Amino acid sequence: MNPRSKPSEGWGWPLLAIKQHYFVDGASLCGAYTAFGGVLEAGPALAGDCGRCTHALERRGAPPAPAAPAVRSEARH
Ligand SMILES: [Zn+2]
Repeated sequence: MNPRSKPSEGWGWPLLAIKQHYFVDGASLCGAYTAFGGVLEAGPALAGDCGRCTHALERRGAPPAPAAPAVRSEARH
């Protein structure tokens, strides 16, 4: 099963959860959830989302929230 119309990762709201978690291939980045079949929404973390998922997502290199003023002009080739 690999539906192309659905994103394979994104923010989802598990049953009974009080925060949104970021899921990749059905498992949350924070490790709290290992299965999720709901709707996923791609995008940066929002206030109130799972902090551990947010940190894990930032470490993966996802586009951070535009609030951070620190900009590195580092050119790698
Ligand atoms: Zn989480």
